[in-house]
Amino acid sequence: MIKLKKILVWFRNDLRLHDNEMLVEAIAKSDSILPVYVFDPRYVEQTTHGTLKSGLLRQKFLRESIADLRSSFQKLGGNLLVLEGRPEELLPELVERYDIAEVYHHREVGPEETEISAHVEDQLWKLRINLRHFIGHTLYNKEDLPFPIKDIPDVFTQFKKKTERDAIVKACFLAPEVINFTELEDWGELPLLNDAGGEDPFLRGGEREGLLHLNALLEEGSLVYQKIQGKAAAGLPAFSSKLSAWLAHGCLSPRMVYWLVKDAEDKFGTNQNFNQILLGLLWRDYFRFMFKKHGLDFFNDAQLDFEQSSPEQEEKDLLDQWKQGRTGHPVVDNYMKELNETGFIPYPARLLTATFLIYILKISWVRGAAYFQDKLIDYAPASNWCNWAIVAGGGKDQRSGKNAFDLEKQFKLLNLDPEDSPLVN
Ligand SMILES: Cc1cc2nc3c(=O)[nH]c(=O)nc-3n(C[C@H](O)[C@H](O)[C@H](O)COP(=O)(O)OP(=O)(O)OC[C@H]3O[C@@H](n4cnc5c(N)ncnc54)[C@H](O)[C@@H]3O)c2cc1C
Repeated sequence: MIKLKKILVWFRNDLRLHDNEMLVEAIAKSDSILPVYVFDPRYVEQTTHGTLKSGLLRQKFLRESIADLRSSFQKLGGNLLVLEGRPEELLPELVERYDIAEVYHHREVGPEETEISAHVEDQLWKLRINLRHFIGHTLYNKEDLPFPIKDIPDVFTQFKKKTERDAIVKACFLAPEVINFTELEDWGELPLLNDAGGEDPFLRGGEREGLLHLNALLEEGSLVYQKIQGKAAAGLPAFSSKLSAWLAHGCLSPRMVYWLVKDAEDKFGTNQNFNQILLGLLWRDYFRFMFKKHGLDFFNDAQLDFEQSSPEQEEKDLLDQWKQGRTGHPVVDNYMKELNETGFIPYPARLLTATFLIYILKISWVRGAAYFQDKLIDYAPASNWCNWAIVAGGGKDQRSGKNAFDLEKQFKLLNLDPEDSPLVN
C-alpha cells in the first residue's frame, strides 16, 4: 500500500493564505496537510512587571484572526485544528497520532519564540521528524540581502541604502485555491475570552479584514492621497496607515502591502504617505534583522537593569499614573487613555509617551516596554523592544536615537505647537 505523505503546518504569527510560502510548499510536497494553531498559555502569563504578556485587546484580535483563518480553510473544504497547550508537547503527539512526515513553520526572531521552536525541534527530532523553517515575516528575505546577517549595517540609513540598491522585493505567493486536508473528526474549539471587551472593536483581526483595510486605504480619494501641509496641518493627526496589527499577526504580508502601494504609486504617483509606509516596512525589517544579528546585546547601552531614581512606592505611583493616563500632562494622558481603550496609538505618540516615562518620570524603559507589550494590538517583540531601547538611548545606530529626547521635534511630528508642550513647563 502506498503511504500518503502528510505535512503538519504550524501557524503562529503568519495567519494568512496569501503570500505564504510555507503553506504553498506544504501543499506541493504532501498528499494532505494538517493546519494547526496552538494557544500557548505562556503568551498570556503575567510578567515580573505585573503586566500581561498579551492583554485582552490583543487576545481578541488574535482570536478573530484565527477564526478568520479557520473560516478560509473551511471554505476550501477543510479546517484549522485549534489546541491549547505547549507546542513542544502537542505537536509530537499529533505527529504520532496522524502519522505526519514533516512539520513546517515560520522562523521567529524573538528569544521566547525561538526557544519554543527549539523545544519543538528537539522533541520532533526524537521521533526522527524534521521541523522545516520558513522565512515569511519580512519584506526582504534574509538570503536576498546583499550581506550576511553578521555584516548587516547597524546604521539604519546604510542598511536602507544598500538594501534598496542591491536587493529585490520578491513577488507574492498566490493564495492556494485547492487544498487536500488530513481528515479529522474533532478540530477543536477556539478558547473563550473572559472579557472580550466591547462589541465594536477598533480594528478587527484576520486576513480578510486586513486586506479590506489595505484596499480601502489605497482606494482613489482616500486619506493616503491628501496632502495637508503647513498651517493647515496644525492640530490634525499625522498620517498613520494603521496596518501594523495585521502585519504583526501575519494577517497581511509586508510584500503584499509593498506591491499594492507600488501599484497605487504607478497609478496616482508617489506621495509622502506612501513613502512613510514603505519606510516603516524597512524599519520593521531592520529591527528583526538587528534582533537576529545582536540578540539581547542590542539592548546593552539602554541598560536593562535601571538604577532606580525614586523610592519604590513613589516610582510605582508615578508608573501607575502614566499607565492610567493620570500624569496631569494632557497630551501624554490622552494618548495613554487611547492606548488603553483601543490598543493603538501612532508612532509620534509612542515616542512622546515613552520619552515622558524615561526622561521626565525617570522610570526604566523596560517597564514601559512591558506595558506596551500588554496593551498594543500590534505588539511585535523586535519592533517594541528595539524602539523602546532606542528612545532610551540604546540600539546599535547611535544616530537614530539622537533625537529621541527632542521634544520640539516630537511635537512637530504630532502636529502640535511646541509652545504648548506640557513637558517644558
Ligand atoms: C516605543 C515604541 C514602541 C513600538 N512598538 C511597536 C510594536 O510593538 N509593534 C509595531 O508594529 N510597531 C511598534 N512601534 C513602531 C511604530 O510606532 C508602529 O509600527 C506604527 O505606529 C504603526 O502604525 P501604522 O501602521 O499606522 O504605521 P505606518 O507609519 O503607516 O507604517 C507602516 C508600517 O511600517 C511598520 N513600522 C512603521 N514604523 C515602524 C518602526 N519605527 N518600527 C518598526 N516598524 C515600523 C509597521 O509595521 C507599520 O504598520 C513602536 C514605536 C515606538 C516608539
